[in-house]
Amino acid sequence: MQNVIIIGTGPAGLTAAIYTARANLKPVVIEGIQPGGQLTTTTDIENFPGFPEGIDGTTLVMKMREQAERFGATFLRGEVVKADFSGRPLKIVLDEGQGLEGSSVIIASGASAKYIGIESEQKLMGRGVSACATCDGALYRDVPVAVVGGGDTAMEEALFLTRFASKVSLIHRRNEFRASKIMADRVRNHPKIEIHWDSVVDEVLDVARNEVTGLRLKNLKTGERNVIPVHAMFAAIGHEPNTKPFIGVLAMNEARYLVTTHTRTNVEGVFACGDVQDPHYRQAVTAAGSGCMAALEAERYLGSLGG
Ligand code: NAP
Repeated sequence: MQNVIIIGTGPAGLTAAIYTARANLKPVVIEGIQPGGQLTTTTDIENFPGFPEGIDGTTLVMKMREQAERFGATFLRGEVVKADFSGRPLKIVLDEGQGLEGSSVIIASGASAKYIGIESEQKLMGRGVSACATCDGALYRDVPVAVVGGGDTAMEEALFLTRFASKVSLIHRRNEFRASKIMADRVRNHPKIEIHWDSVVDEVLDVARNEVTGLRLKNLKTGERNVIPVHAMFAAIGHEPNTKPFIGVLAMNEARYLVTTHTRTNVEGVFACGDVQDPHYRQAVTAAGSGCMAALEAERYLGSLGG
C-alpha cells in the first residue's frame, strides 16, 4: 500500500516526485513507455528558467530524476494499462500484470504525437516516417524531406530540419498557419523551405520498397495530385493525451484530456498534472509547475485522511 503513486516521468511527474519525496511520502513512480517523456526527444531547451546557456531535454529530466531519488522516490518500469478508482485503496495495473494500491495517485502520463492516419504512413513508420525531427532529422543529410502541419511544432521541426536537409517541403492543409507570427515568418523567409498550401498527404511512397521515396500530395482546392520526392516525412500535427487506461474512470473533455481543478480530478485522491490535462501551454516549465501543485494537493489530501 503506497501513499502516492505517480504515473509518468516527464517534468510533471518528476516534479511531483521531488515534492512528495521531500514531504517524506515515499512516492512510487511508474516510468511509462517513454521514460523522461517528450523532453527526451528535444535537443536544446532554451526557455527553462535557470539554464541561460540552454540544456538538452534528456539531461534536464535526468537531473530531475536524480533530485527525486535523492529524497527517496523509487522508480518502477512499466506502463499503466488499467485503473480502478471506484473504491479505496486506489488500484492500478501495469502491463506485465503487476498491481499497485495507493491512497493517492498523481497522473502525469503526458501526451503523444499524432499521425495523419493513412495506411502507407503506418507501414513506413520508422522507415522515413517520424514525428520527431530532433530524434531522426540528422539521418537525412543533404536530401529533401517534408514536414506536415501548420502549428508551432511544424515550424520548429521545419526550421530544425534545414540544418541537415537539402530542402524542406512544408505541407499544410489550409492557406494560413496556426503558428505564432514570429515562427511562421522565419519559415516563410527561409530559403530552404518550400510551402505547399491547401495540401494534404494522399500517400507516402514507396511501401513496396519499404522506404520513403516521395509523397503524393492532394491540393484540397483544385483536387490536383502531384508527387514530391522526399526521403522522410515528419508529422507535426499535434498531440493526443495518454489517457487510455482512464476512459470511463475519470472525467475527460472531448479531446480526452483529463479535466482538473487545481490538479484535482473528479475522483478524490486522484490528481493530474502536465500535458495529460493541459492542451494549451504544453511547456516543460508549466508541466513542472503543475507537478508541484499536484504534489501539494496530494499531500493535503493525505493529511486530511489523518494517516
Ligand atoms: P497545433 O497548434 O494544434 O497545430 C497542429 C497543426 O496540424 C495545425 O496547423 C493543424 O491544421 C494541423 N493538423 C492537425 N491535424 C491534421 C491532420 N489530420 N492532417 C493535416 N494537418 C493536421 O499543434 P502544435 O503545433 O503541436 O502546437 C501545440 C501547442 O504547443 C501550441 O499552443 C503551440 O503554440 C505550442 N508550441 C509552442 C512552441 C514554441 O513556442 N516554441 C513549439 C511547439 C509547440 P489547422 O491549422 O488547419 O487546424
